[in-house]
Amino acid sequence: MKLFKLCFPFVFFIVFSQQSLLAQEKSIDDIMPVRGFCISAPTPDYFDQFLKFVEEDLVPRKVNTLLLLVGYRYEFEKHPELRDTLALTKKQVKKLVKLCKENNIKLIPQLQILGHQSSMTKANMLLTVYPEFDETPDVKLLKERQWPNEQELYAKSFCPLHPGVHKVVYDCVDELIEVFEADAFHAGMDEVFYLGEDQCPRCSGRDKAELFAGEVNKLYCHLSNQGKELWIWGDRLIDGKTTGLGMWQASMNNTARAIDLIPKEVVICDWHYKIAVPSSVLFAMKGFNVITCPYQTSEVALTQLHHFLSFRENSPEIMANRFQGMMQTIWGGADDFLEVFYNNKEEAPRRKGSSECFRNLFDEIKKLD
Ligand SMILES: [Zn+2]
Repeated sequence: MKLFKLCFPFVFFIVFSQQSLLAQEKSIDDIMPVRGFCISAPTPDYFDQFLKFVEEDLVPRKVNTLLLLVGYRYEFEKHPELRDTLALTKKQVKKLVKLCKENNIKLIPQLQILGHQSSMTKANMLLTVYPEFDETPDVKLLKERQWPNEQELYAKSFCPLHPGVHKVVYDCVDELIEVFEADAFHAGMDEVFYLGEDQCPRCSGRDKAELFAGEVNKLYCHLSNQGKELWIWGDRLIDGKTTGLGMWQASMNNTARAIDLIPKEVVICDWHYKIAVPSSVLFAMKGFNVITCPYQTSEVALTQLHHFLSFRENSPEIMANRFQGMMQTIWGGADDFLEVFYNNKEEAPRRKGSSECFRNLFDEIKKLD
């Protein structure tokens, strides 16, 4: 016993030193496998500057995942009728693909599935060309953006039970995956407010969680048959009432039960912008890989980073590995973001917040290496 007491400090020192050495040997990929950046596709005028941004500002900051919100802004060949204005050409996409490959950046395209098929004032290309896919044809678009409004119109949805919608939309999904040479596809699926509506002859009266899960499962099967991953935003899978998180970053329209109705292989992007809600734990404990996403408040992002490291450190290995990383989200257009990031354009305070948040968060992430 005496000997043990004498030796204990040395044993402790040796064990501690070994642990420190092990910690030092860990690469940034071990500590934070996914270091993401999410932004809208730039317009043609800003495309070259965007490439420069990837090379000079994402690569040195160790970003290894680029989620590009493309939507219908690509020159689709199978469905040229769906090409939006200011669309990326195939040649441009291939330039970006090459640059990302050279720098080991996983490039993921996004096309919104189910929700976000319009703004308050304008339908997207899908509902413009195929108005029959609209879940709420009786809801008229507003003349001017106004929230709240009588119809509670934030964004339209397509009808998940329309017999023709998936053929058209999946053609576009497949084309994006092919041209981006992607091994993962992001389907959005956030803020789906119109779902299982009474005015839809197919969906009325149906369980909204089942409708939401059905849409995830259908796409998951379509993608996994090609060996591709499905990524989605996580808000519809969190109960907004029980958590107090409300209708935006969580669900107040009874979709949350879908969390138990979809495959665990779906990757969840868990976004919280105003407070560092620890909901990634919910997803990890359910068996999902989860990525925490901040936006425009550096303090929130840094707290989320602290949580991320703590959750990984204090969980059993199988669960720790599900906390995959963090992804900075940029909303409001790539062109504006680049103007603020490089030229400090003053007119866009919200963009300024996200620009600073990105710099501050990745300054810290870089130190993990
Ligand atoms: Zn419907």
